[in-house]
Amino acid sequence: MSEKLKNKIFSQLKGIEYDKVVDVQHAYCPKGCNLMSDKVKIGGLDSILVDLEYNDERGKVYLDPEYGSFNHKFEIEVPEGEVVELFCPHCGVSLTEEGEKCNTCSSPVFHLDLPDQGTLIGCLKKGCFDHKLKVVSFDSMHLQLDNDYIRVIM
Ligand SMILES: [Zn+2]
Ligand SMILES: [Zn+2]
Repeated sequence: MSEKLKNKIFSQLKGIEYDKVVDVQHAYCPKGCNLMSDKVKIGGLDSILVDLEYNDERGKVYLDPEYGSFNHKFEIEVPEGEVVELFCPHCGVSLTEEGEKCNTCSSPVFHLDLPDQGTLIGCLKKGCFDHKLKVVSFDSMHLQLDNDYIRVIM
């Protein structure tokens, strides 16, 4: 990609208010299962369905697909500050991202695959709002939106 095009894309991205325009419409587990659920809508949008495990208890969580919005629906109660594990509800694969830690509290993080090689990463500690959205695309361009722009989840 030319420098000129790169600069153009970056300048456009800078003008966007991410928390208002970014909704997750497509999210996948690392094995490619579709995690979107139309059974539970949050803010009028399909939610992101994952399995949550905490203290040998297992239940479903419907994640709010809108950035900056925290209306997640939990089937089981998790106290603030507790670390959970998330799994794909279809194939059972763990969503924990090996080798990555939350910038804020050093807890493990989970990741979801987004279209165009994007990755959504969130902290697994309930009540921690540290959150990153990583978008990798256009071969060499690597974009990381940090929690200055977007906050979400758990
Ligand atoms: Zn899966
Ligand atoms: Zn954290």
